[in-house]
Amino acid sequence: MTVYKLTCVICPLSCSVEVEVEGNRVKDVRGFSCTRGKEWAVEEVLSPKRVVMTVIQVRGGKEPVVSVKTDSPIPKERIRELMSYLATLEVEAPISIGQVVVEHPLGLKTKIVATGSVEAVETRGHA
Ligand code: SF4
Repeated sequence: MTVYKLTCVICPLSCSVEVEVEGNRVKDVRGFSCTRGKEWAVEEVLSPKRVVMTVIQVRGGKEPVVSVKTDSPIPKERIRELMSYLATLEVEAPISIGQVVVEHPLGLKTKIVATGSVEAVETRGHA
């Protein structure tokens, strides 16, 4: 039996929650003050997920990179793989805030969304 001691991050009350696990089964959850916190703690122990924030390289932009994030949390064990994948990407300027720059990377349900904007550099046409 293992007891995980967590601090709930769902609201500012920061309850101390204990989750008792045997094998893959939750035997008991203590210390939460609401069901949202209880559900968060169980998920955090059994299948933790995180929103990923990083930057992606931009081609033809006034800035070399744009900040992005996943539009939903992804399994913690896929984060390293996703970061490596995003490090190889280059997107074309202009990029606007909120724009989806990658749909379902690596088969994940999430989308990669720009959290900043990058204007394109002005190119002069040949006379
Ligand atoms: S358990 Fe409920 S009340 Fe406590 S920190 Fe989590 S969300 Fe807030």
